[in-house]
Amino acid sequence: MLVYNTLTHEKEEFVPLKGNRVTMFVCGVTPYDYSHLGHAKTYVAFDAIARYLRHKGYNVLYVQNVTDVDDHIINRSAETGVSEPELAEKYFKHFREDMEALGVESINIFAKATEFMAEIIEQINGLIEKGYAYDVDGNVYFEVRKFKGFGKLSRQKLDELRPGARVEIDESKRNPEDFALWKKQKPGEPAWESPWGMGRPGWHIEDTAIAMTHFGEQYDIHGGATELIFPHHESEIAQAEALTGVEPYVKYWLHTGILNVEGEKMAKSLGNFWTIRDALTEYRPEVLRFFLLHAHYRSPIDFSKDQLEEAKRSYQRLVDSLETAKQFLPRAEGGETDSGKRLVESAEKAEKQFEEVMDDDFNTREAISLLFELARELNVAVDKNADKDSVERGLGTFTKLAGVLGLFPERAAQTEVADKVLALIVEIRERARSKKDYETADWIRSELEKLGIRLEDTGKGVVKKAR
Ligand SMILES: [Zn+2]
Repeated sequence: MLVYNTLTHEKEEFVPLKGNRVTMFVCGVTPYDYSHLGHAKTYVAFDAIARYLRHKGYNVLYVQNVTDVDDHIINRSAETGVSEPELAEKYFKHFREDMEALGVESINIFAKATEFMAEIIEQINGLIEKGYAYDVDGNVYFEVRKFKGFGKLSRQKLDELRPGARVEIDESKRNPEDFALWKKQKPGEPAWESPWGMGRPGWHIEDTAIAMTHFGEQYDIHGGATELIFPHHESEIAQAEALTGVEPYVKYWLHTGILNVEGEKMAKSLGNFWTIRDALTEYRPEVLRFFLLHAHYRSPIDFSKDQLEEAKRSYQRLVDSLETAKQFLPRAEGGETDSGKRLVESAEKAEKQFEEVMDDDFNTREAISLLFELARELNVAVDKNADKDSVERGLGTFTKLAGVLGLFPERAAQTEVADKVLALIVEIRERARSKKDYETADWIRSELEKLGIRLEDTGKGVVKKAR
């Protein structure tokens, strides 16, 4: 299996550090607002990667951090009057709901930075003892020039880093490129006790403390969006390798391409974002996931409603093929058929090719096109009255491969039926109301509410589903 490693700029054979075990860390959210589709792209991609590794038989331990103390949270808290922990908890909960809806379920551990203060402080202490970090009046900085390997991930030379452009200017630092490991408390900010006084950790050290607590001095995969390569991931390497002397800190660095809107990155700061939550009111989660996996994880995606509409139509073709074949099954006859034989051959070929394209740096784009080929073969087999065993086999392969990507056309098909049944119930209630049978109408409404479905009477009885 080949994976593209940002550290070496090459596709490399994937060999985990310890046998069958894969340790994987992906930079998580800063929960101060709803997550948008740009975040979804990264997390859906790494979910597909983790799922595929497990499908290959690897024992994957996937940890994702939660940056629950940060400037964004502090600012938002000041704006809204909601305390930092409450704010972080609220949006983290929403993030998990969004991820669950998108089928992101491969993460074993969510690790909140604030629960790792002892480990963070211990790492900073270690870096000071080894001469890589210094304390200036309660602020502790990492002295970048002391670490020879700085710039190896982002391929930048230290002297090319211009202060102000990409590094913060701060009078108290020895060098402009030095970054904060510990930030002295400012009035009103949340703070923890430390040997350097009250304060809070820098962003980069949170991740090394969390990852090394779970994985030790080295681990297999570190993932994140491309824009985190510098300074975040570069700094993580510097901290970890300076502290332990063990290289490489992470064997494979994987980065996802950006979700663009009209040529610009989808970002909260640019205001061009669409929250996952809002997108889910218009599109099924399976469609969003399909849209995001339709490109290779390293490629950027140009986001537009048109593209999403197209993804919706394409995805529906997969659902339709699946449904047609499933409905055909009870009518299918036994025995051998030529069309059945052809379908079984196609299924075998699809399984083999699926592994090949996914083994080549997780090419979900190609994997999805193989699903379409198999869907077409299923349609042909149904048209030609293929035998039952063969159709079952074709269907089995189709759902299995779609399941590895977490696409679940089956689930989508089920929600489709459920939606129709719900529409029917709403219609029954409307009929009751028109006959002035309010008792039945109210009973239907209250029974649906027990199922988490709320009806709003807008004259037409619009259906609202609680999430
Ligand atoms: Zn991170």
